[in-house]
Amino acid sequence: MHFTGRTWRPHYESNSVIIQATSGCTYGKCHFCNLYKNENFHMSSIKEFEEDLSEIKKYQPNARRIFMTGANPFAMSYNNLKLRLLTIRDYLIKCQTIAMFSSIRDIKDKELWQLKKLRAMGLNGLSIGTESGDDKTLLLANKGYNSSDILEQCTKLDKAGIEYYFVYMTGLSGKGNGYRNAINSVKLFNKLNPYFISVDSLTLFSDTEIYKMVQTGEFIPASEKERIQELQIFIHTLKIRTHIFANSISNFYPITAYLPKEREKVINELQYIIDTTNEKDMKEYRKKLKSL
Ligand code: SF4
Repeated sequence: MHFTGRTWRPHYESNSVIIQATSGCTYGKCHFCNLYKNENFHMSSIKEFEEDLSEIKKYQPNARRIFMTGANPFAMSYNNLKLRLLTIRDYLIKCQTIAMFSSIRDIKDKELWQLKKLRAMGLNGLSIGTESGDDKTLLLANKGYNSSDILEQCTKLDKAGIEYYFVYMTGLSGKGNGYRNAINSVKLFNKLNPYFISVDSLTLFSDTEIYKMVQTGEFIPASEKERIQELQIFIHTLKIRTHIFANSISNFYPITAYLPKEREKVINELQYIIDTTNEKDMKEYRKKLKSL
């Protein structure tokens, strides 16, 4: 298999077979991120891609879901994506869905008819690192798009019938702003249909812009308890039917919930953690984290 550089896939894709179509990130400017700091964006040749598919076919001929690694393979052109999706289906006849990371920017350059065609070729499951739906937070994190862009592009995905997943990051708006971030993000998310929302919590790494902003006093991190309260507000106000996966390692206390059914249960669980755990222990936990 031709894996180069950092190979990253979300924890909820752990049962998918992974293949590299691209590596690195086309953007690389988000203030909290150091994931692909030392690599340039690279697209695997079709020759390499086919060699990998042939290897997968040998060991996992019945693979049903493929996940393309890299920060945003959806940055590839419509024609390139079409070729890769069709090639996957040539090799793996039982493959039902093909998933990958995408930025809001990558959806922008695809027409609705192209999205519908890609869906028909097996594309389903775009993981989108929205992080927030609050314009001030998106700007602070330097995501390169705003809430209207998220609404416009994800509405296209809804129309094309492509399943997508959001990432929300608690603590990203800084001390005292978690309430605003949660409320404004939910206002936006309530207009869309993310199949689930994966929640992370901001962790500071020394090679990121946001870390430098902390040193200069431009950014004051939220306490761990404020982040949990932010998550409670987020869950409380979210009115769409969806799943919440706040169980990655960046969450001090991992929870998952099916909304609306388990809303009260998880809000109470989080309250118990706020009431019974001290801030110092929570901070110690975060200090030990090695990646996002
Ligand atoms: S968060 Fe995603 S889009 Fe932003 S720099 Fe990191 S990998 Fe690239």
